Amino acid sequence: MGGTKGDSMSENKKKCANPVCSCVPTGKNKYCSAYCEGTAGQTVMICHCGHEECAGNATK
Ligand SMILES: [Zn+2]
Ligand SMILES: [Zn+2]
Repeated sequence: MGGTKGDSMSENKKKCANPVCSCVPTGKNKYCSAYCEGTAGQTVMICHCGHEECAGNATK
């Protein structure tokens, strides 16, 4: 009984701390890349982290 098909795995993954970035950092990093780390305290509209799966990357 019970169809617990929720994706509880997602709560273990934290998005990059850069608001416009959709990537998931590795390990205990807050940012997925050095670029995102450099955007701390800044307002950026486009992410240049270089990851293809990034939703904030407008270069494609
Ligand atoms: Zn990004
Ligand atoms: Zn990032």
